[in-house]
Amino acid sequence: MRQQIVAGNWKMNKTAVEAEALVRNVIEILSKNPSESVVVFAPPFVHLQRVAQIISQSPVHVSRVFTAAQDCHWEESGAYTGEVSAAMIKSVGATHAIIGHSERRTYFKENNQLLARKIDVAFKNELLPIYCCGESIMERKNDHHFKTIEKQIAEGLFHLSENDFLNVIIAYEPVWAIGTGETATPEQAQEMHAFIRDLLSQKYGGETAENISILYGGSCKPSNSKVLFAQPDIDGGLIGGASLEAEDFLAIIHSF
Ligand code: PEP
Repeated sequence: MRQQIVAGNWKMNKTAVEAEALVRNVIEILSKNPSESVVVFAPPFVHLQRVAQIISQSPVHVSRVFTAAQDCHWEESGAYTGEVSAAMIKSVGATHAIIGHSERRTYFKENNQLLARKIDVAFKNELLPIYCCGESIMERKNDHHFKTIEKQIAEGLFHLSENDFLNVIIAYEPVWAIGTGETATPEQAQEMHAFIRDLLSQKYGGETAENISILYGGSCKPSNSKVLFAQPDIDGGLIGGASLEAEDFLAIIHSF
């Protein structure tokens, strides 16, 4: 279902003590000043259980707060030293998994075919995928950005049934805007979000397309989140750097 969502991707940041303090801080303020948006914390794997536990013990009025893994393996289990399976993630109380973040695509050479398998294993284990797509600066300069996004979405997601597809969250994150301080303009972001929604409509029909949340990611911060989230096809954000400080993350959550 289409919802306003603000998800914080902590990447490889925060010790256990820092992680707990950040989540408690955000939740405490949210309980006094609630938000209509869905809030998702995506801490490193080692903190998932603790974060999920803190959330589950929080007051009812912050019940729209969830925990996501930043990735999951494409196999159910087996000899994959150092890796974490979807079943393990689910077993510690997480509900979502980010799949296909550009840092995974770049540093770990994850391609659309592999990501399609991760999407499947996530669904099999009842984790809701937050599927990331985004073009490089060269692709945008060469006017290839629409083709890149179309390929990432078609190859990663279009094998899904309409029923499963309705549970996908998409994050459009132009690679040139991630962690760079450079944000897509609201017009650039809206143009791509509308393009993505149109792709979904062609594949699954208009009603389904209207029901999918499409988040923007890439140097989203309190100073630009309001205008980005005001765009008709932007349903929230996947937030990196600005999710590491409670004050900034809360300001973004309250940007709708
Ligand atoms: C991200 O990692 O998904 C992200 C959008 O990072 P940042 O907000 O720091 O650009």
